[in-house]
Amino acid sequence: MTAVRRIALRGDLLDFTAAPAWGEVASPGVRWRPDHWLLIEADGRIAGAQPGSSEPGPDWQRHDHRGRLVLPGFIDTHVHSAQIEVIASYGAQLLDWLETYTFPAEMRYADPACAQAGAAHFLDALIGHGTTAAVVFPTVHKGSAEALFAAAQQRGMRLVAGKVLMDRNAPPALCDDVAQAERDCTDLIERWHGRDRLAYAVTVRFAPTSTPAQLAMAGRLLQDHPGIYMQTHVAENRDEVRWVRELFPEARSYLDVYARAGLLGPRSVLAHGIWLDDADRALLAASGAQIAHSPSSNLFLGSGLVGWRALEAAGAALSLASDVGGGTSLAMLRTMADAYRVQALAGERLTAWKALHAATRGAALALGLADEIGTLDAGRIADVCVWDWALGPVAERRLEVARELHERVFAWIMLGDERNLAAAYVGGVCRRSRQRQGESGTG
Ligand SMILES: [Zn+2]
Repeated sequence: MTAVRRIALRGDLLDFTAAPAWGEVASPGVRWRPDHWLLIEADGRIAGAQPGSSEPGPDWQRHDHRGRLVLPGFIDTHVHSAQIEVIASYGAQLLDWLETYTFPAEMRYADPACAQAGAAHFLDALIGHGTTAAVVFPTVHKGSAEALFAAAQQRGMRLVAGKVLMDRNAPPALCDDVAQAERDCTDLIERWHGRDRLAYAVTVRFAPTSTPAQLAMAGRLLQDHPGIYMQTHVAENRDEVRWVRELFPEARSYLDVYARAGLLGPRSVLAHGIWLDDADRALLAASGAQIAHSPSSNLFLGSGLVGWRALEAAGAALSLASDVGGGTSLAMLRTMADAYRVQALAGERLTAWKALHAATRGAALALGLADEIGTLDAGRIADVCVWDWALGPVAERRLEVARELHERVFAWIMLGDERNLAAAYVGGVCRRSRQRQGESGTG
């Protein structure tokens, strides 16, 4: 880790100025600036960019990453910090997966020391995968949210999180009650929301684990604290959808359970959204809520295929998420590759631009954070990652023969992972760097 000062990164700058259209491999929204310097001011914000031939003066600490990609840090809009220990667990669908793997892992977070160590490990792992901002589920324990906020603050990260709410249909050790949960949430909001780069999210695990009284309390919190977020899961798995219908017979649909409790708005992030109908998609669009599409998790747990195009056609926002531990990697590159596979199974073709946009500028827009993160525009906070185009002979050869930019970037997404990460800057501070072989300077 190096001290904050004026930094100049030289490499191939890639970001977006507009959302790419479906199927468009040559998109006007793509901003491609090969061999440029990205200038980062001492206050941790991006100052601008200039061609590689125009070298910044000696008051800039220069890092030459020529031949590497420079991108905005990825934004993971749905991930569980405590589930990193149950990633890659065998043989289950959603409901038994929760019982068998997730709940036991989350119980360990009752211990504050475990929550603290877990939070630090999780956030360092995120940064090590090129993800510099995230919307995170810790556990039901107040201390787990506390530990996560404190660890993110230490790292200068943009983090949206909140104590998980669940007061039924879960092991007693993981259940809260409405009154205590309301006090805990209010206290956490007062102490953490809006502090540095942290924001609070009212965090309903999913409809089956909250009583109607708890959902109503969650709605009150949102009403009483404008500016906070809401995160939950919706319509991930068919058995789950059936269960929600039994538990909430008065609701028109699973999504409607949340709408009735006042939980849908422009700052609502709902993971999955696989088993939705047209009325649900219209409701998402009208409320401004976004779907955190988690393709790796959906494939791994056999949950189903997200209708990305239908969501987009309805005007609903979609961002990309790892959903670790249901997802099998924190790498957004892997997530994007899986998003392509999910669309392929659904008979659609997802461009590299659509995927990359959804993990950067698109997520920032959907979260209302586009003036802070998601692009390399001047004035944005410098959450920036530097990537190797190719590692190993297969990827190297594939990139060598690629003819145009989309082909190269698509191959990079499909063949790359966190090992391609060369450096990660969070708020202009280098939090991760790896030297090229035979290189003496720092990166
Ligand atoms: Zn999840």
